[in-house]
Amino acid sequence: MKALCWNGTNDLRVERVPDPVLVNPHDVIVKVVLSSVCGSDLHLLDGYVPTMRAGDIIGHEFLGEIVEKGPEVRYLNRGDRVITVSIIGCGHCGHCRHGESSLCDNSNPNPDYARTAYGHCGAGIFGYSHAFGGYAGSHAEYIRVPYADFNAFRVPEGVSDEKAVFVSDAVPTGYMAADMAGIRPGDVVAVWGCGGVGQMAIRSAYLLGAERVIGIDRFPDRLRQAQLKAGAETLDYNRVDVFDALQAMTGGRGPDVCIDAVGMEADSAAGAVEDLYDRAKQAIGLQTDRPAVLRQMIESCRKGGTLSIVGVYGGLIDKFPMGAAMNKALTFRMGQQNGQRYAERLFQHIEKGELDPSYLMTHRLPLDEGPQGYRLFKEKGDGCMRVVFAP
Ligand SMILES: [Zn+2]
Ligand SMILES: [Zn+2]
Repeated sequence: MKALCWNGTNDLRVERVPDPVLVNPHDVIVKVVLSSVCGSDLHLLDGYVPTMRAGDIIGHEFLGEIVEKGPEVRYLNRGDRVITVSIIGCGHCGHCRHGESSLCDNSNPNPDYARTAYGHCGAGIFGYSHAFGGYAGSHAEYIRVPYADFNAFRVPEGVSDEKAVFVSDAVPTGYMAADMAGIRPGDVVAVWGCGGVGQMAIRSAYLLGAERVIGIDRFPDRLRQAQLKAGAETLDYNRVDVFDALQAMTGGRGPDVCIDAVGMEADSAAGAVEDLYDRAKQAIGLQTDRPAVLRQMIESCRKGGTLSIVGVYGGLIDKFPMGAAMNKALTFRMGQQNGQRYAERLFQHIEKGELDPSYLMTHRLPLDEGPQGYRLFKEKGDGCMRVVFAP
């Protein structure tokens, strides 16, 4: 089959690879219909995620049709149209049973790297390095899905492919960011990053009762979409001082909830000394992640407020303002998404017309144009929010 393979930093190629086969009795094979790029893939492209090997298939957000199933798959059948949650759970361990499937004890067959780096090992992720399980990704014609009954969800009939595909990753990640922040009616929520996950976090914050949501980015198209489609007020961090603007908008209190939908490759305002410092330290390996958004959230958040982090971090950061966080009594919530607990609820919101993620798909390309698609996505040219490949 054809697949989009990682071959080194910023080196993606469409290659011929062997078709996937059933490995365990709880697996299914899915014929991929749509497979989306995700911001976290850019960390792979840019070489910030170790344990990638030449030839690894990337991609983790997808929709397709089940074409083969193992003998222990009970609830799914051949021909089912499904989305699959990008973070793999086993469905049986304590974490999976408590709705924290991204912490699954069993779905990562290569636990040693994470144990060494993090102390404990979390779940496997499709197409996201050998440290996260070495699973083949979805930018391919077919993909193997383990623990299929737990990770794949039948798409309701009235929900189009274009809306459903994002229930794999962008929608639950944004929804979880809002959900774990404990938003209360009347809250003001600020969301850093208006890419796919940020847009969904904005929409979800309203669904969960926020009164005002403020989206922060520097790309005009993304800010416009955050306003028009998600209903946010917006700030361009290259034009205003974000701290001053947020205080002015909240009577000097600061937002109740601050959501990080950016992660480890955060940019600061153009020409900021902080940005030069973070890039220099990252380049020479003295920090792995740039914490510009985290610093700004800690400073901006109201006293006693909550920071909710779903942008991906990989390792170590420098100049973290712990004193401010402690003395302001901030609550930190964070994690990879637990989409299995949200998928059905999210489909209901889509069916009722309360949520429509399809506008994230600004570009649809054949898989053969994978490398060009990622270039477009990375450079954010042509109003690109998400490129989706149709193998
Ligand atoms: Zn993702
Ligand atoms: Zn588990």
